[in-house]
Amino acid sequence: PELTVAPCRLARQFQPPPPHLPSYRAMLLGEPGVGKSTLARIFGGVEDDYDADFAVEDYYQRSVVVDGEETTLALLEFCGQAGEEWLDDELAHAGDAYIIVYSIAERASFERAAEMRIQVRKARQADDVPIILVGNKSDLVRSREVSVDEGRACAAVFDCKFIETSAALQHNVRELYHGVVRQLRLRRRRGDL
Ligand code: GDP
Repeated sequence: PELTVAPCRLARQFQPPPPHLPSYRAMLLGEPGVGKSTLARIFGGVEDDYDADFAVEDYYQRSVVVDGEETTLALLEFCGQAGEEWLDDELAHAGDAYIIVYSIAERASFERAAEMRIQVRKARQADDVPIILVGNKSDLVRSREVSVDEGRACAAVFDCKFIETSAALQHNVRELYHGVVRQLRLRRRRGDL
Protein backbone atom coordinates (compact mmCIF):
# COMPACT_ATOMS: atom_id res chain seq x y z
CA PRO A 1 0.00 0.00 0.00
CA GLU A 2 1.10 3.51 -0.74
CA LEU A 3 2.26 5.87 1.88
CA THR A 4 0.07 8.93 1.62
CA VAL A 5 -0.16 10.80 4.83
CA ALA A 6 -2.25 13.65 3.52
CA PRO A 7 -1.81 17.00 5.14
CA CYS A 8 -3.82 16.88 8.26
CA ARG A 9 -4.05 20.65 8.45
CA LEU A 10 -6.64 20.41 11.10
CA ALA A 11 -4.31 18.78 13.59
CA ARG A 12 -1.73 21.46 13.00
CA GLN A 13 -4.21 24.29 13.31
CA PHE A 14 -5.32 23.21 16.70
CA GLN A 15 -6.62 26.16 18.69
CA PRO A 16 -6.02 26.32 22.39
CA PRO A 17 -9.23 25.46 24.22
CA PRO A 18 -10.70 27.66 26.95
CA PRO A 19 -8.32 27.30 29.89
CA HIS A 20 -11.03 26.73 32.46
CA LEU A 21 -12.31 23.54 30.87
CA PRO A 22 -10.73 20.10 30.74
CA SER A 23 -10.02 19.46 27.11
CA TYR A 24 -9.36 16.44 24.96
CA ARG A 25 -8.62 15.73 21.33
CA ALA A 26 -10.09 12.73 19.58
CA MET A 27 -8.95 11.67 16.16
CA LEU A 28 -11.21 10.04 13.59
CA LEU A 29 -9.60 7.36 11.48
CA GLY A 30 -10.95 5.03 8.83
CA GLU A 31 -11.06 4.22 5.17
CA PRO A 32 -12.34 6.91 2.81
CA GLY A 33 -16.11 6.75 2.45
CA VAL A 34 -16.98 5.17 5.80
CA GLY A 35 -18.61 8.36 7.06
CA LYS A 36 -15.95 10.19 9.07
CA SER A 37 -16.78 13.65 7.72
CA THR A 38 -20.46 13.08 8.23
CA LEU A 39 -19.91 12.00 11.83
CA ALA A 40 -17.65 15.00 12.38
CA ARG A 41 -20.15 17.43 10.91
CA ILE A 42 -22.84 16.15 13.23
CA PHE A 43 -20.53 16.68 16.16
CA GLY A 44 -19.66 20.13 14.84
CA GLY A 45 -23.28 21.10 14.75
CA VAL A 46 -23.47 21.55 11.02
CA GLU A 47 -26.27 19.02 10.79
CA ASP A 48 -28.13 19.14 14.04
CA ASP A 49 -28.91 21.31 17.01
CA TYR A 50 -25.44 21.14 18.45
CA ASP A 51 -23.89 24.57 18.76
CA ALA A 52 -20.31 24.40 17.52
CA ASP A 53 -17.74 26.85 18.78
CA PHE A 54 -16.13 26.96 15.38
CA ALA A 55 -15.26 24.68 12.55
CA VAL A 56 -12.14 24.80 10.42
CA GLU A 57 -12.07 22.41 7.54
CA ASP A 58 -12.54 18.98 9.00
CA TYR A 59 -11.74 19.99 12.50
CA TYR A 60 -14.30 20.81 15.15
CA GLN A 61 -14.08 21.87 18.72
CA ARG A 62 -16.93 22.37 21.09
CA SER A 63 -17.89 22.05 24.66
CA VAL A 64 -20.03 19.11 25.65
CA VAL A 65 -21.83 18.41 28.88
CA VAL A 66 -21.55 14.75 29.77
CA ASP A 67 -22.87 13.42 33.07
CA GLY A 68 -23.41 16.98 34.22
CA GLU A 69 -19.82 18.02 33.68
CA GLU A 70 -18.55 20.29 30.94
CA THR A 71 -15.56 19.36 28.78
CA THR A 72 -14.05 20.69 25.58
CA LEU A 73 -13.69 18.07 22.92
CA ALA A 74 -11.81 18.67 19.70
CA LEU A 75 -12.42 16.29 16.86
CA LEU A 76 -9.67 15.87 14.31
CA GLU A 77 -10.21 14.01 11.12
CA PHE A 78 -7.39 12.11 9.56
CA CYS A 79 -7.71 12.81 5.89
CA GLY A 80 -5.00 10.56 4.47
CA GLN A 81 -5.09 7.23 2.76
CA ALA A 82 -4.09 4.43 5.00
CA GLY A 83 -0.93 2.77 3.78
CA GLU A 84 1.32 0.52 5.83
CA GLU A 85 3.13 3.39 7.43
CA TRP A 86 0.37 5.91 7.42
CA LEU A 87 0.52 6.69 11.07
CA ASP A 88 3.45 9.04 11.41
CA ASP A 89 4.70 10.02 14.78
CA GLU A 90 2.92 13.34 14.82
CA LEU A 91 -0.43 11.81 14.02
CA ALA A 92 0.13 9.01 16.44
CA HIS A 93 0.43 11.57 19.20
CA ALA A 94 -2.16 14.05 17.97
CA GLY A 95 -5.08 12.33 19.66
CA ASP A 96 -5.91 11.63 23.28
CA ALA A 97 -8.34 9.07 21.89
CA TYR A 98 -8.82 7.40 18.52
CA ILE A 99 -12.18 6.78 16.91
CA ILE A 100 -11.71 4.13 14.25
CA VAL A 101 -14.62 3.97 11.84
CA TYR A 102 -15.63 1.30 9.38
CA SER A 103 -18.77 0.78 7.33
CA ILE A 104 -20.89 -2.21 8.30
CA ALA A 105 -21.68 -2.49 4.59
CA GLU A 106 -18.06 -2.84 3.53
CA ARG A 107 -15.99 -5.68 4.89
CA ALA A 108 -12.73 -4.28 3.54
CA SER A 109 -13.17 -1.18 5.68
CA PHE A 110 -13.63 -3.41 8.74
CA GLU A 111 -10.40 -5.22 7.99
CA ARG A 112 -8.61 -1.93 7.49
CA ALA A 113 -9.97 -0.73 10.82
CA ALA A 114 -8.34 -3.74 12.47
CA GLU A 115 -4.98 -2.79 10.97
CA MET A 116 -5.40 0.76 12.13
CA ARG A 117 -6.04 -0.37 15.67
CA ILE A 118 -2.87 -2.40 15.62
CA GLN A 119 -0.88 0.59 14.44
CA VAL A 120 -2.35 2.95 17.00
CA ARG A 121 -1.70 0.46 19.80
CA LYS A 122 1.86 -0.03 18.61
CA ALA A 123 2.57 3.68 18.34
CA ARG A 124 1.06 4.41 21.76
CA GLN A 125 2.02 1.29 23.69
CA ALA A 126 3.15 3.23 26.68
CA ASP A 127 -0.01 5.20 27.32
CA ASP A 128 -2.90 2.84 26.72
CA VAL A 129 -4.76 5.32 24.55
CA PRO A 130 -8.55 4.86 24.38
CA ILE A 131 -9.74 3.44 21.07
CA ILE A 132 -13.39 3.36 20.08
CA LEU A 133 -14.35 1.09 17.21
CA VAL A 134 -17.33 2.43 15.28
CA GLY A 135 -19.43 0.45 12.82
CA ASN A 136 -21.13 3.22 10.87
CA LYS A 137 -23.97 3.05 8.33
CA SER A 138 -26.06 0.76 10.51
CA ASP A 139 -29.06 1.94 8.50
CA LEU A 140 -27.86 -0.05 5.49
CA VAL A 141 -29.55 -3.17 6.77
CA ARG A 142 -29.78 -4.99 3.47
CA SER A 143 -26.18 -4.53 2.48
CA ARG A 144 -24.70 -5.40 5.85
CA GLU A 145 -21.40 -7.31 5.50
CA VAL A 146 -20.19 -7.13 9.09
CA SER A 147 -22.43 -8.36 11.89
CA VAL A 148 -22.81 -6.60 15.22
CA ASP A 149 -21.30 -9.64 16.94
CA GLU A 150 -18.21 -9.53 14.75
CA GLY A 151 -17.70 -5.87 15.47
CA ARG A 152 -18.12 -6.42 19.19
CA ALA A 153 -15.83 -9.43 19.24
CA CYS A 154 -13.18 -7.60 17.32
CA ALA A 155 -13.29 -4.67 19.71
CA ALA A 156 -13.02 -7.02 22.68
CA VAL A 157 -9.84 -8.58 21.35
CA PHE A 158 -8.20 -5.18 21.19
CA ASP A 159 -9.71 -3.84 24.36
CA CYS A 160 -11.65 -1.15 22.51
CA LYS A 161 -15.11 0.23 23.12
CA PHE A 162 -17.58 -0.55 20.38
CA ILE A 163 -20.65 1.18 19.02
CA GLU A 164 -22.66 1.03 15.83
CA THR A 165 -23.88 4.34 14.46
CA SER A 166 -25.83 5.71 11.57
CA ALA A 167 -24.62 9.16 10.67
CA ALA A 168 -27.34 9.28 8.04
CA LEU A 169 -30.07 8.79 10.64
CA GLN A 170 -28.05 10.46 13.41
CA HIS A 171 -28.46 7.32 15.42
CA ASN A 172 -26.04 6.77 18.31
CA VAL A 173 -23.81 9.65 17.25
CA ARG A 174 -24.26 11.63 20.43
CA GLU A 175 -23.75 8.40 22.41
CA LEU A 176 -20.48 7.89 20.56
CA TYR A 177 -19.06 11.30 21.51
CA HIS A 178 -20.29 11.07 25.06
CA GLY A 179 -18.66 7.65 25.31
CA VAL A 180 -15.39 9.13 24.09
CA VAL A 181 -15.51 11.80 26.78
CA ARG A 182 -16.25 9.19 29.45
CA GLN A 183 -13.33 7.05 28.34
CA LEU A 184 -11.02 10.03 28.42
CA ARG A 185 -12.16 11.09 31.86
CA LEU A 186 -11.58 7.60 33.20
CA ARG A 187 -8.00 7.63 31.94
CA ARG A 188 -7.35 11.10 33.26
CA ARG A 189 -8.72 10.21 36.67
CA ARG A 190 -6.44 7.21 36.74
CA GLY A 191 -3.61 9.61 36.00
CA ASP A 192 -2.73 8.27 32.58
CA LEU A 193 -3.25 11.49 30.64
P1 GDP B 1 -15.40 9.86 4.84
O1 GDP B 1 -14.68 9.75 3.54
O2 GDP B 1 -15.04 8.75 5.76
O3 GDP B 1 -15.27 11.20 5.48
O4 GDP B 1 -16.95 9.62 4.50
P2 GDP B 1 -18.10 10.71 4.28
O5 GDP B 1 -18.55 11.28 5.57
O6 GDP B 1 -17.69 11.65 3.22
O7 GDP B 1 -19.28 9.76 3.75
C1 GDP B 1 -19.15 9.01 2.56
C2 GDP B 1 -20.54 8.72 2.00
O8 GDP B 1 -21.26 7.89 2.87
C3 GDP B 1 -21.38 9.98 1.83
O9 GDP B 1 -22.14 9.84 0.65
C4 GDP B 1 -22.27 9.98 3.04
O10 GDP B 1 -23.48 10.63 2.81
C5 GDP B 1 -22.48 8.49 3.26
N1 GDP B 1 -22.74 8.17 4.66
C6 GDP B 1 -22.07 8.59 5.76
N2 GDP B 1 -22.59 8.06 6.87
C7 GDP B 1 -23.63 7.27 6.48
C8 GDP B 1 -24.55 6.44 7.18
O11 GDP B 1 -24.57 6.31 8.41
N3 GDP B 1 -25.45 5.75 6.41
C9 GDP B 1 -25.50 5.86 5.06
N4 GDP B 1 -26.42 5.16 4.41
N5 GDP B 1 -24.63 6.63 4.38
C10 GDP B 1 -23.71 7.33 5.07
